[in-house]
Amino acid sequence: MNLNEYNYIVVGSGFFGAVIAERIANDLHERVLVIEKRNHPGGNCYSLDHPETGIHYHQFGTHIFHTSNPQVWNYIKRFTEFNGYHHQVLTTYKDRVYQMPINLETINNFYDLNLKPFEVKDFLAAEIIKTGIVEPHNFEEKALSLLGQALYEAFIKGYTKKQWGLNPTLIPMEILNRLPFRDNYDESYYFDPWQGIPQNGYTAIFKKMLNHELINVLLETDFIPLWKDIPKETKIIYSGPVDRLFDYKRGKLKWRSLSFVNGVEEVSDFQGTAVMNFAEEQIPYTRIHEPWHLHPEKENLQSKTLVIEEYSIADDGTNPYYPIRDESNLETLDKYQLDVATFDNLIVGGRLGDYKYYDMDQTIAKALETYSLIKNSHIGT
Ligand code: UDP
Repeated sequence: MNLNEYNYIVVGSGFFGAVIAERIANDLHERVLVIEKRNHPGGNCYSLDHPETGIHYHQFGTHIFHTSNPQVWNYIKRFTEFNGYHHQVLTTYKDRVYQMPINLETINNFYDLNLKPFEVKDFLAAEIIKTGIVEPHNFEEKALSLLGQALYEAFIKGYTKKQWGLNPTLIPMEILNRLPFRDNYDESYYFDPWQGIPQNGYTAIFKKMLNHELINVLLETDFIPLWKDIPKETKIIYSGPVDRLFDYKRGKLKWRSLSFVNGVEEVSDFQGTAVMNFAEEQIPYTRIHEPWHLHPEKENLQSKTLVIEEYSIADDGTNPYYPIRDESNLETLDKYQLDVATFDNLIVGGRLGDYKYYDMDQTIAKALETYSLIKNSHIGT
């Protein structure tokens, strides 16, 4: 392989890398080499058919595409049709199923009440005042100040401890912003106007993006040992972990990881929904996924279904998912970002590169922005 043949090298083929590679080929009409460590494109969005059931699933956890960004929506629609899947999550607590995010159904079911929407505020205010929290300083206090003790203990505390492997007092409160709360019966997980699952899965999107005569994809290839042989004029767009790029010289950035256990149940519908959360700390998994529900347009006609248990685990550096953005990790990140800035030809981005828990649409938006900068500097040369 001749690394001198390319003006652009993209490292990683998740959404950040794939979008930039696609734009460089289709818009800039330049050759681009994509270097991917894994044996497949798509990063953690990778999807495939389960051999035993034929059910299409997301290997790294259920990914729901959702966005409020018209530019991202128009862009992604060039590569796939979306089905009409609308995301709803349920949670099991003490063998009963409740709606999640916490809404009026959750509250009424949990307290065995029949509150009306206009009564929720006063009801919760009376619960919240008992917690004594006026100004929250961490995840636990924020949750208590929004929900009161009982709802927090039931639906948030145990799940969050499992998910992060940390006491919720040690978790930044911004994480709670990902979880909406409702005082009506709206059970949508997302407010975004556009959502769905790609008709033919995520992998088909990546194949379509990368299938171009100007794009060459090298799978199962580690970029790090090749870096020293890449000419200085070549622009490198790196979307792997930023600490790995510098051999962890400023320390390792901490991540939380996930592991998945696939199983087959001999029924056509095991849990009646795509994602079921398990709120109690004693239940070792955080969620069970049942992927055929992601494709309501294709009924599961077989008497078996794929179910996937999700476990949250400490990261050993091989499979980073959720950045642990506490003060000390953010300080380390700053140092790496200064290291990146010393290179004229290096752009670092994406979830791993920016050390941010982006949703897919945010990653695509960032990639499109980054591409505009690349294009401007290309015209300038
Ligand atoms: N969370 C919770 N109970 C739930 C679901 C979520 O306490 O049933 C908390 C948990 O701390 C989690 C955060 O809300 O980390 C964000 O949840 P989200 O569903 O966005 O997590 P993701 O799907 O990104 O893993």
